[in-house]
Amino acid sequence: MSLTARPARESGPHASAGDTGTGSAVAAQALPNGSADIPAEVARLRDTFAGGRTRDAGWRLRQLAGLEQMLTEREGEFVAALSADLGRPAVDAWLADLAPTAAESRYARRHLRRWMRPRRVGLPLSVQPGRARYSYEPLGVVLVIGPWNYPAYLTLSPLVAALAAGNCVVVKPSEYAPATADAIARLLPQYLDPDAVSVVHGGPGETQELLAQGLDHVFFTGSPEVGAKVMEAAAPHLTPVTLELGGKSPVIVAADADLEVAARRIAWTKLMNSGQTCVAPDHLLVDAAVRDELVERIVAATRRFRGGETGGLRVVDARQARRLRGLLDGHGGTVVTGGAVVADEPGGSAAAESTAEPTAEPTAEPTAEPTVEPTVVVDPDLGAPLMTEEIFGPILPVLTVDSVDAAIAHVNRGPKPLAVYVFSASAATADRVTREVPAGATVVNHLMFHVLVPQLPFGGVGRSGMGAYHGRFGFETFSHRRSVLVKRTRPDPTLVYPPYSARTEKLLRRIF
Ligand code: NAD
Repeated sequence: MSLTARPARESGPHASAGDTGTGSAVAAQALPNGSADIPAEVARLRDTFAGGRTRDAGWRLRQLAGLEQMLTEREGEFVAALSADLGRPAVDAWLADLAPTAAESRYARRHLRRWMRPRRVGLPLSVQPGRARYSYEPLGVVLVIGPWNYPAYLTLSPLVAALAAGNCVVVKPSEYAPATADAIARLLPQYLDPDAVSVVHGGPGETQELLAQGLDHVFFTGSPEVGAKVMEAAAPHLTPVTLELGGKSPVIVAADADLEVAARRIAWTKLMNSGQTCVAPDHLLVDAAVRDELVERIVAATRRFRGGETGGLRVVDARQARRLRGLLDGHGGTVVTGGAVVADEPGGSAAAESTAEPTAEPTAEPTAEPTVEPTVVVDPDLGAPLMTEEIFGPILPVLTVDSVDAAIAHVNRGPKPLAVYVFSASAATADRVTREVPAGATVVNHLMFHVLVPQLPFGGVGRSGMGAYHGRFGFETFSHRRSVLVKRTRPDPTLVYPPYSARTEKLLRRIF
């Protein structure tokens, strides 16, 4: 399925957001489903970029303002789409997808003129006299590939960075969040310059075709496996890539941690979006002295946060529910709570199945929706898929360790995670984890909140990703730092030209 959606621009207060800056009207055009001509679409954006209007600070600021206006005026449509795709309540849709996107855009808008300012630099003696500066230039036509878990935020906030840097952008939303993808395709051209931003629907085939166009940058958010395929497809064109990937972000809980706060924060962030968050706590490494108490408090907090609701949490689709059920097969640990999974079978019927130990009480009712019960598994086998694959669902394995040393050693045996979390009353313990565990980020005594700080670079390291964005870092990711050196023709001392006498060589050795 492939669709390049360019519906008619609406007239009204927001129409100026897509002002081309040329004063000419843009022909409204809607291409029907399945008719995307990707090379033509990219060529159209290349023409816009070559025309130069996206370099202008005013154009960039108008795009960002247009995006914010869209998020405010069309909040209802996005909320409905997020509910259809992920079963997300309105407040969660606003909190997790729309508000952070708008905040990212506002922050970029406030700081953009300063970011764009050329930087003067001094010159070494060997290059004097002269003047040197570097400035940030847009890259050209860039591609943003979005995932399904926060399908608005993780598609539109890279778009913010790309527009702030003055690029034309092809947006490829996830095919697994089709309602949100449709909302993005329908609404973006109404609020942004439709000749500079294009939305292409589709899956791997369309994305590969886009990559084959030899674009100027690719920004991918998704799994490490697909990230490798994106990088491979970008390589023949030497298209630079930013890869925002996933992985198993561990939480280390030391014996001196504030257990009540740790339990609340772990339960809250694990429940968020049913655990389908790249920086969600994947598993815990808990000091043996406090393990049972922490687990009890997590189970209690989970129950409280659900406000009396029982049963499973909605996950994106039956495919994911079946994958999660697979993780609950043969893990070798003890299921303390939860364990039930409901997944539509290929034949269309819903099936509920519990992998809980006989002591646990499965509570999920079969429904047509794919759901997974919040589940805590204590001490699963380290070699089980539950402990080797990213969980990306509301299942929380808890490993017992006898020290922070053992926890650090365990984490460092695996790939570098996107985030490592540590709960401890001791600053020295927190510092040790930060120093000794290579990871995209560290959060001490909380989880995930670094994502909301635009002053911090957000990105992985090693298998959890390459490159970063948010705030100025996003602007830099989508910019080329262009160096300019300006020299006068005079004076032009002859001593720098060969042949060199022994005396001039001595002098040159001192200068260079
Ligand atoms: P995914 O890797 O399956 O898909 C992401 C995108 O890649 C989709 O738009 C899809 O159409 C496209 N795609 C799929 N196969 C492709 C191929 N062969 N060639 C080119 N493109 C292809 O990821 P997902 O399931 O949407 O998201 C879940 C994963 O994303 C998890 O691993 C999660 O941790 C990670 N993630 C990371 C971040 C982050 O910021 N680091 C954020 C959210 C999700």
